[in-house]
Amino acid sequence: MALRANARINLAAIERNCARLRARVGESALCAVVKADGYGHGAVQAARAALAGGASWLAVAAAGEAAELRAAGIDARLVVLGALSEAELAVALAADADVVAWSEPFVARLREHGASARVHLELDVGMGRLGTRDGDALLRVGELVAAAPRLTLAGVMTHFPSADADVELTGGQLDRFVAFAERVRGLAPAVVAHAANSAAALAIPASRLDLVRCGIAVYGMDPWGRDPRDHDLEPALELLSRVAAVKPLAPGQTVGYGATFAAREPIWTATLPIGYGDGFRRGFSGNGEVLIGGRRRQIVGRVSMDNVTVALGPEPDAAVGDVAVVIGAAGGERITAEEWAARIDTINYEITTALSSRVTWTYHRDGVEVAP
Ligand SMILES: *Cc1c(COP(=O)(O)O)cnc(C)c1O
Repeated sequence: MALRANARINLAAIERNCARLRARVGESALCAVVKADGYGHGAVQAARAALAGGASWLAVAAAGEAAELRAAGIDARLVVLGALSEAELAVALAADADVVAWSEPFVARLREHGASARVHLELDVGMGRLGTRDGDALLRVGELVAAAPRLTLAGVMTHFPSADADVELTGGQLDRFVAFAERVRGLAPAVVAHAANSAAALAIPASRLDLVRCGIAVYGMDPWGRDPRDHDLEPALELLSRVAAVKPLAPGQTVGYGATFAAREPIWTATLPIGYGDGFRRGFSGNGEVLIGGRRRQIVGRVSMDNVTVALGPEPDAAVGDVAVVIGAAGGERITAEEWAARIDTINYEITTALSSRVTWTYHRDGVEVAP
């Protein structure tokens, strides 16, 4: 395969991450969040691996994402976390996905729809996004759901804004949610209460409740943006490119748009066919390293849409066709999504989710290739 940029996903790592999460959360069930194409890992493959690793629920953000999983034959319990337009609601229900509700008009739409549906109530304890802050009003929404013949009051949920940063604030928000969930249990005793994302599931045991919704940790990335090893997580994604050109650069000669890099002494450079058109962010211009031959090589000049250039040093110690590790390990060196995120003041989530459709995805289990 003529490889420009290849996201190589180890499904066994996703399985092991899920198995570890399951072991850590005790009695709570694990919902693997596979929205945004599985955080750039491939939703269908990630979902299957997560289920094999012990997840019993899946979550997505959009109705179309639920339909994609069903079309692939995945029949696990599935919840669409996002707000749904009229058209999306039909898609979500056709996919037999659970939906989230917090208003009476939405429940009225659900009832008009006529299909049977499992509904989760969303309390807003501080995210200020979806859900409602008004517990009394939400309980009335719950009563409407419980009274509707084809609707099932299946869950009650919230989403913490700062589980990764403020355990005390999150504790107070959790207390409010738990008190509300108790009231909902009065309407539907079997209701599933869920609140924790990866950070809460790992760091705040009381937040685990019936079900934890883990995304970032499933993929082996660290919710705090630190080393995934701190929490025994294994990154599942490697991002590989290759050396497409090796050239000498004389003093004064430049690299890239804007000629922002000029050699001071004679060096060799290697150009890799990966750029911001592949999701390799332009903010990495002159700001990052990749591994070639097991050694770190500095990016020189700007990242363009299709290419990036790195400095090799005084000798041309790489050849056309050599693998360049953008995310991953080689020769005892390791480059993580967390390292890239720190360079441009963003989060690891955005690094893998940014990968574009021009990247090729391949799958393996600990080195044994798996058909897509
Ligand atoms: C994305 C999302 C999650 C998963 O969060 P992670 O930090 O990736 O574990 C959980 N719940 C909701 C509502 C989400 O939108």
